[in-house]
Amino acid sequence: MSPLEPYLHTPRVAYFSMEIALESAIPTYAGGLGVLAGDTVRAAADLELPLVAVSLVSRGGHFRQTFDPAGRQVEQPAPWEPREHATPLAAKVALTLEEREVWVGGWLYVLQGHLGGTQPVLLLDTDLDENHPDDRQITHRLYGDDGPYRLKQEAVLGIGGVRLLQALGFRLRQYHMNEGHSALLALELLRRHAHRPEELRPGESPYDVPMVRGLCCFTTHTPVEAGHDRFSYTVVQRVLDDFIPLAVLKQLAGEDALNMTRLALNLSEYVNGVAQRHAEVSRRMFPGYRVHAVTNGVHPHTWTAPPLRALYDRYLPGWCHEPELLVRADCCVPQAALLQAHTEAKQALIALVGARTGVTLDPAAPILGFARRMTAYKRPDLLFSDLERLKAIAGTRPFQVVLAGKAHPRDEGGKRLIEQLHRQIRRLAGSVSMAYLPDYDLDTALAMVSGSDVWLNTPLPPLEASGTSGMKAAFNGVPSLSVLDGWWVEGCIEGVTGWSVGSATEVGHEADARALYDKLEQVVLPLFYGQLGAADGWVRLMQGAIAKNASFFNSHRMMRRYATEAYST
Ligand SMILES: *Cc1c(COP(=O)(O)O)cnc(C)c1O
Repeated sequence: MSPLEPYLHTPRVAYFSMEIALESAIPTYAGGLGVLAGDTVRAAADLELPLVAVSLVSRGGHFRQTFDPAGRQVEQPAPWEPREHATPLAAKVALTLEEREVWVGGWLYVLQGHLGGTQPVLLLDTDLDENHPDDRQITHRLYGDDGPYRLKQEAVLGIGGVRLLQALGFRLRQYHMNEGHSALLALELLRRHAHRPEELRPGESPYDVPMVRGLCCFTTHTPVEAGHDRFSYTVVQRVLDDFIPLAVLKQLAGEDALNMTRLALNLSEYVNGVAQRHAEVSRRMFPGYRVHAVTNGVHPHTWTAPPLRALYDRYLPGWCHEPELLVRADCCVPQAALLQAHTEAKQALIALVGARTGVTLDPAAPILGFARRMTAYKRPDLLFSDLERLKAIAGTRPFQVVLAGKAHPRDEGGKRLIEQLHRQIRRLAGSVSMAYLPDYDLDTALAMVSGSDVWLNTPLPPLEASGTSGMKAAFNGVPSLSVLDGWWVEGCIEGVTGWSVGSATEVGHEADARALYDKLEQVVLPLFYGQLGAADGWVRLMQGAIAKNASFFNSHRMMRRYATEAYST
């Protein structure tokens, strides 16, 4: 029996994503977008919501990160062998790119849910004997560049993906685009469902836009105009030739350039942003479109460390399938047991930091955790704006910092930030214990979000569309100290789930840094050391993070909303 057989009978939602985080050993992801895609499929497995995920095999992986003695990021190739994790697909399909036939095959990865459900994930691959050597590389590098190579990747994903699903015999009821990279799939659907010339009355278009719109939904993730994928029509014509007449394409994707977001917006009945704030920003950026808000969520079992899982299994059985049950964490989970579980998670992080960096952390002092893709708008340097002030705060009430994160190889600003952070670590030696964990991945992320005492996030608003690592922290009873942007606008209840950073009246780097220091010095650290409010203040905060935030910001709520709103047509 073909390994695909169990998945071919029930109509499924095809979920397209350029990147997907399946497990740490499979480096087909670069950051939050891929982790969200993985959590989406993991939640669908638990909920038995029939999905088929489509992504690229990215055999070359992202990269393995180390640092040179100066603290500069060193990128080593991180290839992976699909054969060790997946089975080859029985079909292949062709598309024409730059006047050459490119064959697309792929791999079936079966995602195994921890509750017994499974979902198929197709990883598209052009590294086939029949292809020109250049074309064999198309699915090799994740986010290759922003020119023709990238457009070819997106064509393989969108057009190749739809054709392969068809060739394999999938029955599909809906197509979900996770970000605009896969929007060419809607053009393939337009062609597929086009009317034959003899059916048309004079002047009628062969393309059935309403029909395709009914099949597609689109989740946008980008809060700034410059962040949207665009391709000049010169490149588009070179790569795709007359796939769709240029005049039609311009109507759907923009006059000046092919804007993948605009294309997806015009060809999707249901469109959503990834947090309330992000949906508002998107509506302003693209007036005239109805943009819903489905705030992201994280997968409960994946993002809860083993000691916390055991705790919830004991006191809130069923929490993994119905994370709403976590709303009772503030009264049904004993404080001592919660503190004990957190201590175990913290010890695991301290051991990991020791093994990987040689830095010894103190279990009695709070750990501030900060990990994410290192790029300018995330402002990892905000905490280090005033080293003297930081030293003074730590002199009164000690704290420690654990950092992690990769910069995209072409993001020079991000790479400079990493180097700068290493310089700060050296400057603060003796005053603040700090470590930078190399090679941030799913496993490091879980260790950090569960073993830290405070999860720090300081993006430049409104650039954090959602952010998800703070949600992961909440699953482990770790409160966030964060700038009010993305999901935190909804998640922050001051002093109950964590704290906000920044003021309504003053904005800018310096004002935000001052606000961060003030909060740390006057609220967070005194509360941690039992010098502010009730004796059980800190553990009540931990309970608050779980009860108010993990119960809501989870992938199960997110998928139930997609299922009832986006996939219901
Ligand atoms: C969760 C996660 C992210 C995204 O975190 P943000 O808070 O959204 O920036 C990125 N990388 C990895 C490995 C993650 O686990």
